[in-house]
Amino acid sequence: MIDSTATFGFAETENMRMVRDMVREFADRHIRPKMMEWDESQEFPVDVFKKLGEMGLMGVLVPQEYGGSGFGYFEYVTVISEIAKVCGSIGLSVAAHNSLCTGHILQFGSEEQKKKYMPKLATAEWIGAWGLTEPNTGSDAFRMMTVGVQDGDYWVINGAKSWITHGKTGDVAVVMVRTGELLDSNGISAFVIEKGTPGFRPGRKENKLGMRASETTELIFENCRVHKSQILGEVGQGFKQAMKVLEGGRISIAALGLGIAKGAYEASVKYAKEREQFGRPIGDFQGIAFKLADMATQIEAGELLTMQAADCKNRKLPLNKLSAMAKYYTSEVAVRVSNDAVQIFGGYGYTKDYPVEKFYRDSKLCTIGEGTSEIQKLVISREILK
Ligand SMILES: Cc1cc2nc3c(=O)[nH]c(=O)nc-3n(C[C@H](O)[C@H](O)[C@H](O)COP(=O)(O)OP(=O)(O)OC[C@H]3O[C@@H](n4cnc5c(N)ncnc54)[C@H](O)[C@@H]3O)c2cc1C
Repeated sequence: MIDSTATFGFAETENMRMVRDMVREFADRHIRPKMMEWDESQEFPVDVFKKLGEMGLMGVLVPQEYGGSGFGYFEYVTVISEIAKVCGSIGLSVAAHNSLCTGHILQFGSEEQKKKYMPKLATAEWIGAWGLTEPNTGSDAFRMMTVGVQDGDYWVINGAKSWITHGKTGDVAVVMVRTGELLDSNGISAFVIEKGTPGFRPGRKENKLGMRASETTELIFENCRVHKSQILGEVGQGFKQAMKVLEGGRISIAALGLGIAKGAYEASVKYAKEREQFGRPIGDFQGIAFKLADMATQIEAGELLTMQAADCKNRKLPLNKLSAMAKYYTSEVAVRVSNDAVQIFGGYGYTKDYPVEKFYRDSKLCTIGEGTSEIQKLVISREILK
């Protein structure tokens, strides 16, 4: 059952420690004081991302020659989980920018495209978006209906994408478009489309349960003319590229879930020691102490699975099953742990005076975004049965 590729023991490296301390300090100073305000108003705080860009955290995996930090997946998991320990919304946006838009261009762009876009994205001079999902095709993205028709050196794109992180604020988007027949495995291409391109605009902004400071909007294409030089890789390879990008993206969401679970757990331990009922701290009651034991055990297991997937990604080993397992397990842990956290806080957990209600709301995205838990189980079972 255990993968033969596994490396056991993931001791924190000097780089991970350095990144962790830097993110912790940043989150305490620039995110924690304002996060509830952003959550209430659904404000996407662009300034925070610009600051994270100056620190190299918007191009964590981008090689230094393209203006990035040149780190691997261990450091990347550390960045996302440390941010999510404080605020899931900021964690989600940093993850989407790093691994979806930036990651797609980095993996499949030409040298010219990488030189043009990487320095801007890695420093957050530009914010990136990534469009696969459509209103009628989410889990079944292969049946997408946004269509591109060739006209000389240009492609004319019509259709709409939905649920796109940074759909309005994003300066550039990687968008998957049908350029061939429906259900043709070579019928989808990936285009890089810049904000301001005629015929390309954001649509409705979603009013969400959680992750409210992470902007989510539609993208609309109305006779949008895009030059063929804006295609990533070969025409017709876009869906395969997107699936590869999501393989790494699942590690992002696993890290996001891990951070949310850790944040909810740490708040719960503190509260269980402080809050007294029946003349003793509630942590003295086995009903509460066992909850903490379950939370800690699941977090530890989720972290090992996530780091194992990160290790495989760093070593360029096959990771389809492993990254799906890490995403599935850690997302569900985030929901369970934050649910238990609200219970441990009792009535106070149901208010906005304590952080656990936000962890609870934010956690649910992890079981939906970048492939639902059901789709992860589909990926895992297909790998098992093939
Ligand atoms: C906050 C947020 C941010 C997002 N950001 C982006 C983004 O930046 N870019 C982007 O492209 N997309 C983004 N998404 C979209 C996200 O990836 C989709 O919501 C997700 O893939 C699910 O698609 P859907 O919502 O259409 O659900 P559906 O596919 O309609 O699924 C509905 C339900 O049916 C289940 N289901 C579907 N098919 C099967 C099956 N074969 N077997 C068993 N169960 C099944 C699902 O698991 C789910 O429970 C974002 C979503 C959210 C909520």
